[in-house]
Amino acid sequence: MKAGNTVLSGYGTTIFEVMSRLAEQHKAVNLGQGFPDGNGPAAVVEAAQRYLAEGWNQYPPMLGLPALRQAVATHARRFYGLDLDWQAEVMVTSGATEALAACLFGLLEPGDEVVLFQPLYDSYVPIIRRAGAIPRFVSLKAPGWSFSRADLETAFSDRTKLVILNNPLNPAGKVWTREELTLLAQAVEAHDAYAVCDEVYEHLVFDGRRHLPLMALPGMRERTLRIGSAGKTFSLTGWKVGYVSAAPALLQPVAKAHQFLTFTTPPNLQHAVAVGLGLGDHYFRELADRLQARRDRLSAGLAAAGLSVLPAEGTYFLTADVRGSGLDEDDAAFCARLTAEAGVAAIPVSAFFEQEAPRHLIRFCFCKAEETLDEAVRRLEGWFAARA
Ligand code: PMP
Ligand code: GLN
Repeated sequence: MKAGNTVLSGYGTTIFEVMSRLAEQHKAVNLGQGFPDGNGPAAVVEAAQRYLAEGWNQYPPMLGLPALRQAVATHARRFYGLDLDWQAEVMVTSGATEALAACLFGLLEPGDEVVLFQPLYDSYVPIIRRAGAIPRFVSLKAPGWSFSRADLETAFSDRTKLVILNNPLNPAGKVWTREELTLLAQAVEAHDAYAVCDEVYEHLVFDGRRHLPLMALPGMRERTLRIGSAGKTFSLTGWKVGYVSAAPALLQPVAKAHQFLTFTTPPNLQHAVAVGLGLGDHYFRELADRLQARRDRLSAGLAAAGLSVLPAEGTYFLTADVRGSGLDEDDAAFCARLTAEAGVAAIPVSAFFEQEAPRHLIRFCFCKAEETLDEAVRRLEGWFAARA
């Protein structure tokens, strides 16, 4: 038999799937894969049911339903002062994952270079390589996850087509500062490149921070593709509704890729997400406040159990340094052991690195019910105490 595609067959099953199945097998509390255990805002879920029953069940337009594209443009103006033409500059996708793939397949040529910051979400590099492009990495190091102008100068070249920015950053919980975004914007402009901005956690920023899209910085409006996800904004990760916003000249090639990847996204879900994006400020504030309280709860619990927890400014995640645990094993082995023996699943942070991976950090997801977090902490405390 002939082999499948060599780039993709070189990858194993994603760590999120692996750890969720392992958690099931061991009946572990799953703080690995990032998904909330609630059911999302009632108004949004009810709208999805209503539109389904009313017959919104056939192919919607390829770029997305006007109602959702308008809602995405209105949301961008409301939160960030961005002025988007919903007809020419907004496209609906089947999750941020598809938006990312459409951006990369739509913009990259074989031999183009792509600048990426590690740690990085696991779908970026396989798609870049499948498109025949070459990844160039900037490694951010815990606990500050910062970088310098010199790091950017090493990674960018004349062949740089685009950079991928994930802000807020999974799994580090980093929210990029205006100064960092400005440095990046200067590099993008100097190299006549684009920026694909994965901003799926835009509403999950804590301690009074405000999300600042790279697109809102001077010179970036025409160079940036901004990606959002209803999965994160409405705690409905299984829906896989995403959106990409960009100047027409950038969006057009991306739409060419989208039409051959998925073409479209379930219409009842699109209508429901349009309802969600129109919810009052209270909804968005409450979402961030709730998640911040969960972060604090899990962080305190992990610290009490004996783990050294790093700061998390945003996202669903916090990371812990396991070097003080007394176990001399890498993060992947540690997570497997924690799942099987302590009954708590986490994700090894090395899975977010292509090179120079740290081996001492693990990621916990805190977008769970308080009881779930408390049960995880109880199990960890018991397990660590038994080993002491
Ligand atoms: N980017 C990042 C950084 C993520 O954490 C996720 C997680 N799901 C995605 C993209 C994918 O989003 P979606 O489920 O909307 O495809
Ligand atoms: N984004 C989620 C996480 O980081 C996982 C998404 C997936 O399972 N592919 O946990």
